[in-house]
This record gives sequence, structure tokens and C-alpha cells, in this order.
Amino acid sequence: MLKNIESQVAELRAQLEDYNYQYYVLDNPSVPDAEYDRLMRQLIDLEQQHPELQSPDSPSQKVGGEALSKFEQVTHKVPMLSLDNAFDESEFTAFNRRIKERLLTTQDITFCCEPKLDGLAVSILYRDGVLVQAATRGDGQVGENITENVKTIRNVPLKLRGENIPREVEVRGEVFMDTAGFNKLNETAQAKGEKTFANPRNAAAGSLRQLDSKITAKRPLMFYAYSMGLVEGGTLATEHYAQLQQLQSWGLPMSPETKLVDNAQQALDYYQDIMVRRAALPYEIDGVVIKVNDKTQQEQLGFVARAPRWAIAFKFPAQEEITQLLDVEFQV
Ligand code: NAD
Repeated sequence: MLKNIESQVAELRAQLEDYNYQYYVLDNPSVPDAEYDRLMRQLIDLEQQHPELQSPDSPSQKVGGEALSKFEQVTHKVPMLSLDNAFDESEFTAFNRRIKERLLTTQDITFCCEPKLDGLAVSILYRDGVLVQAATRGDGQVGENITENVKTIRNVPLKLRGENIPREVEVRGEVFMDTAGFNKLNETAQAKGEKTFANPRNAAAGSLRQLDSKITAKRPLMFYAYSMGLVEGGTLATEHYAQLQQLQSWGLPMSPETKLVDNAQQALDYYQDIMVRRAALPYEIDGVVIKVNDKTQQEQLGFVARAPRWAIAFKFPAQEEITQLLDVEFQV
């Protein structure tokens, strides 16, 4: 019996590693995200049921993919982690319950709610207010130096403005391509008989990892900041949302959909609202990210292997599941 499960676990790991390579290294996924998420969930469930099979090099414990050797490598001073997922309301409710238990509180938690942009995580370092380095997440510890490429993104400031700018601040956020820019890029490629991109995420990843930044400059990339990494020599706000506002005051763009809510029910309402408006948003998202707003609470909660305990990616159902849901509704 255990032998059977052991081989199932080994098979899932090999399969997921293969998908990771196609997705993160080649920017060319071979299966839909929902299928990847399903297999990952299967692996996590088996590993939880059989702790003796857990292993630090399992894909369930790792972040992203390796840094490509064609770029200079950058070691992140603070690791860039992934996020745990919730796929339905009960998983989100369990997340809220776990947080309260860990914080030993019965009080409602204030959350910062953000759209989960479907692009690439990058870290941008400003020293004395000047952009000096930008890197991909890579495997979370080591990323790729893509400074020249990030400098070409129109809404990324090369120099910060405003007051109280830290001596050194690492801004983290998502580089993505909006739907209009993506469609135009593909139309142009098609007209020229060139290869088209499967989706905006691949287009953003492929554009950002060009060795020639002149090519990147022609691509319609955008950036939204969603957190800070290492900060030295400055006074920071003690709440996540207020920190995002600080970043905005220094000239860094954040998603206009970012919203502070007072409790888990309001976070659920936010999820529903964004899901309804999803198709009308100018860029693709695959869910929302719900983060504990208070930085002291974040510190108390800490991290597990690959993700913080104080945040969760609450994913939307896959398109085919939405169709099924709608079908069911129509039958009633
Ligand atoms: P993730 O995409 O589920 O979540 C973490 C990432 O979310 C962060 O690194 C950041 O880039 C992004 N993000 C977007 N908005 C954010 C916000 N407001 N705040 C914080 N982070 C935000 O995790 P991951 O490790 O990057 O990727 C795993 C996911 O990628 C899988 O769940 C799957 O959907 C997809 N994937 C698919 C394949 C495939 O073959 N189809 C392979 C590998 C991964």
C-alpha cells in the first residue's frame, strides 16, 4: 500500500517538475494552470497524509524555477516567496480561522485585498532614490538580473520622488501585459508570420527575459507594486496598505483595485465583486490576494517553507468550471 503511494508521490513530483521547467524556464506551459494546481493539490494532500514521504526538494516546498544562466544572477537579501492557495470559500474561511488561532485573538482581522495579477514577480532596488537593480524571483533565493529590461517599462520610475525616501528600498511587484497590448502584439506577430504568445503571462515573461532590452522596450509591459523587501534607512508605515500608499507617494504605481477590509466576510465580498468584474478589467487576473494588514501580526504569523502564513491567493475557478457552474444554474 505505502509502496503504491510512494510511487504515486514520485510520479506527481516528476510530472510537476517537468511542468515547472516548461512554465518557468521555457515560458511555454504544456498544461492549463488548473490542471497544474490539481496535481499540486494531490501531491500536498498525499504528503500531509504521509509525513514520512515529505522532502525538502519536493515541488510542493519550492518556489518558482531556476534563474536562467544567460543572465547574471542576483541573490535576494530577503527571499521572494510564493503564496499558498485557497480554491473555495471553505479554504479561505479555514485560513482566517488559522490566523486567529495563531494570533490568539477572537477579534476580526483587517485584510488588504489585491487583484492577483497574472504576470511575473520582480524586485526593483532603489538606492538613494535611483533605480540600481531589478531581478526576477527565480527560485526565490536567486533570480536573474534584468535591470536594463525593467528600466524600459513605462510606469516604473527611474528615480523616486517625494519625501522620506529610504536610503535603500527594494520594491516588489508584478510585471504584466494588459489585454489590449497583448492582443496588439499578437496581431502584429501574426501579420509578420511570427510565433504568437499563448497568453499575456507568457508574453510578459518572454518580453522581460530578452537579452536585448531594445526588444523589451517595444513590448507593452506594465508594473504594479505590491510589497517591499529589504528597506534600510527610512521610517516605514506599520501597516501593509499604508506602505503601499508610501510607495505610491514615491511614484510607484499600485493597482487601483487594492482595498482595505475590516473582516473575512468583507474579503469574501471583495473576491465575489472582482470575480464578477474580472472580464471587464484591462488585464488578466487569476484570483485575488488577501493579506493581513498589520505588520506586527504578519511578523507574529511568520512563514512556512515557501509562503507567508499571513497571505493567501484566493484563486478563481478555472474557466471550464465556471462554464459548468453557469450550466448548472441555467438548468435550475
Ligand atoms: P502563484 O502565482 O500562485 O502566487 C505567487 C505569485 O503571485 C507571486 O510570486 C507574485 O508574482 C504573484 N502576485 C500577483 N499579484 C500579487 C499580489 N497582489 N501580491 C502578492 N503576489 C502577487 O505562485 P507561483 O509560485 O508564482 O506559481 C504557481 C502557479 O503558477 C500555479 O498555481 C499555477 O497556477 C501556475 N503554474 C502553472 C504551470 C503550468 O504548467 N501550467 C506550471 C507552474 C506553475
